[in-house]
Amino acid sequence: MAIPLRDGGPAARIAVIPGDGIGKEVTPEAVKVIKAVCAPTKRGTGRNMEFVEFDWGADKYLKEKVSLPPGAVEMLRDEFDAILFGALGDPRVPSNQHAADILLGLRFKLDLYVNARPVELYHQKFTPLRDRREEDIRMMVFRENTEGLYVGVGGFFKKDTPDEIAFQEDVNSRKGVERIIRYAFEYARAKGLKRVCMSDKSNAMTFAHDLWQRVFKQVRAEYADIDSRHLYIDTLAMEMIRDPRQFDVIVTNNLFGDIISDLGAQLAGGLGLAPSGNIHPGRTSLFEPVHGSAPNIAGKGIANPLGSVLASAMMLEFLGWHPEAQSLRAAVKAAVHENFVTADLGGDKSTIQVGDWLAASVAKNLSD
Ligand code: ATP
Repeated sequence: MAIPLRDGGPAARIAVIPGDGIGKEVTPEAVKVIKAVCAPTKRGTGRNMEFVEFDWGADKYLKEKVSLPPGAVEMLRDEFDAILFGALGDPRVPSNQHAADILLGLRFKLDLYVNARPVELYHQKFTPLRDRREEDIRMMVFRENTEGLYVGVGGFFKKDTPDEIAFQEDVNSRKGVERIIRYAFEYARAKGLKRVCMSDKSNAMTFAHDLWQRVFKQVRAEYADIDSRHLYIDTLAMEMIRDPRQFDVIVTNNLFGDIISDLGAQLAGGLGLAPSGNIHPGRTSLFEPVHGSAPNIAGKGIANPLGSVLASAMMLEFLGWHPEAQSLRAAVKAAVHENFVTADLGGDKSTIQVGDWLAASVAKNLSD
């Protein structure tokens, strides 16, 4: 299977779901930067990008008791190429029910089985590791996104008694394991990357991860051009810190991917800079910053929009618009190197100032 890529055609329809908290502040900045990079200019491609915004989030949930409206999944699937997502979470909804309905609902119902979490160091000063340069920390983590311990199979026995038992099943299908492992190899091949590492805990999880072992063995045999290896998850965690240069592409299950990709985000400067994609190749896919709604800073105009802008770059790449994606990344890099950033990265700029600067930067590069 080759990764079915979008044709990179001139038009796309994007559903924009800013959500709650700082999602509402960073997402408009990302849209602003995308519009700037798609504007028709001397050198610009003049892509026709249509944005449709949806107000799904805590306000709507509290007012109308609606989280993911009926028919929303089908509409997104049939009428949109991609979804640009902000963040969900609000102290007024302690159960976080609306977030579970919307985000997990979309991940499962759109079958977004690839969670892509790039780890890329944009400035040496952001890594907590000593003596690591930008080129030392550059890898892609692929987390299985639809199975594992997240499917909600489990239960309680004798709940709230001293004899209580709680259990949660780790669900792994052959199809599910194979498609994420294969995606990792295809991605490596498409990007000219030489190394794929599959990580599990098959020495302890002798059934579920035995399946990962057998599928990995079968799939890797088809990719002799790629140097593939296996590490237990505990070893991988150590090795990512000891020497991150070893890794190009990492593929793992839902739970381990959750943890290891946050480890990766910290290696590269923390939550404010980390993007992610929830992808089903060839179908409507969802792109979001890794951070949440951050109620502690929401409404202050100081949220860092770079994670959302980098998620937008992933979305443009998914659409086959590689020069535009590259232009967004270059603008982020320039902002970071000129210290035109928000307080979390050591700067003093507002969310909107950073968005305006990035939009001007991509527009200038297109017209130069
Ligand atoms: P959630 O919405 O997932 O429940 P959260 O919003 O409480 O989580 P995170 O988004 O994971 O938490 O972020 C933790 C903290 O990191 C935030 O409270 C905030 O202080 C900081 N932070 C996260 N994202 C950003 C950002 N984009 N800009 C500035 N600070 C951020």
